[in-house]
Amino acid sequence: MRQRVSIVRIENCEIDKAVRDAVEMAGGLSNLVSRDSKVVVKPNLARLAPSGSGVVTDARVTEAVTKLMLDLNPASLVIAEGTAVGYDDGALSTEHVFDMSGTRAVAQMMGVPCVNLNIDKPVAVEVAQPRSMDRILVAKTILESDVVVSVPVLKTHIRTNATISLKNMYGVLPGAEKRAGHMLGINNSLIDLISVVRPSYTVIDGLVGMEGLWRSPEDARIMQLIVAGSDALATDLVGCALMGLDPGSVFYLSELTSRENEVRGLADIDVVGESIDAHAQRFRPAFDAFMERYGDVRVARGPFFCGGCVAELVTAIRYVHDAGYGERMKGLSIVVGAPEEFEVSGKVAVVGECSETYEGYGPMAPGCPPAEDDVVTALCEACDADPSLVLSLRDENRCSMWESTQDLIGR
Ligand code: SF4
Repeated sequence: MRQRVSIVRIENCEIDKAVRDAVEMAGGLSNLVSRDSKVVVKPNLARLAPSGSGVVTDARVTEAVTKLMLDLNPASLVIAEGTAVGYDDGALSTEHVFDMSGTRAVAQMMGVPCVNLNIDKPVAVEVAQPRSMDRILVAKTILESDVVVSVPVLKTHIRTNATISLKNMYGVLPGAEKRAGHMLGINNSLIDLISVVRPSYTVIDGLVGMEGLWRSPEDARIMQLIVAGSDALATDLVGCALMGLDPGSVFYLSELTSRENEVRGLADIDVVGESIDAHAQRFRPAFDAFMERYGDVRVARGPFFCGGCVAELVTAIRYVHDAGYGERMKGLSIVVGAPEEFEVSGKVAVVGECSETYEGYGPMAPGCPPAEDDVVTALCEACDADPSLVLSLRDENRCSMWESTQDLIGR
């Protein structure tokens, strides 16, 4: 099925005009929103950062999208978000993020409520063909809406390689459910979530993107674009191309594009307005920036290397190192993504099913994606470290995160 995605360059700081033009060029909204519609505008406010930084959706873009929706006189309209709830890095206050991002100020100006999805009522939804979550708790505000407009930013991501419109939906999990999704493996959990809640429309804030680990302002990439379309997978594929990222390295995009009735790639998308080539940049992947901290560990990557293994590798490397095994990790080689060649020397761990031809070279974490505990165990065995110590320290850390942040996530 062909999809249309528009790319509009923002001229003279006229964000309102760029958003209107982009939506119009992508086919408009009149078929989507009626006077009976309950509409949710869902920016990406996962982090505590100011508008314009590229880390969160620029409040001016949220404002422009919300105004467009108000023009259509829907029955109700809210701006909703539930900010980051990691299982190993605590939780943030969504209320604080609404303030710092400038979102609350523009919402108040338009008379639109801001809804904190982390403390919204959780409603259980069955997943027809689950990968990791057979039942997902989703915020009631989202399930009771007719239209969810995703307004993400263009960013690399430490656990999924890219976060654009579909990953932005992770915010609709009420707080503790985000933590559960992380623990069960964020890539599979995200695919389960997308199977029950998908954006009705996407307007990407492409003013400023974020590469690497989102250090601000060093990792900011000026783009000055608005991207719009009704199919979130199509807008995500265009977004990846604008960031210079291979969608094959993003596990959930790879999975979706392999399915029938989905766009398979850019060849199935009519890009209107500006061309991708005129604006594509090469964002530095988050994993590359992360591995700079572990210069004594070598990662031998192959062509299948993707976010499914990245998510579990980053936490496993960190846990083993932080358990006091930094010295023993020196000289460790990790084989992942089925490299065509690999020069064997010293300590080797093999991660992920696609590298199974290297199974005999060292301890292996099977699975696609592999389970975090198995990756920790493989790395420990390769370094002569104690996996039970690493895993027990990890669990202690998680418990203390739970204790210290549960007031922010409703339960
Ligand atoms: S096993 Fe290979 S394809 Fe599967 S998640 Fe890991 S790198 Fe990706």
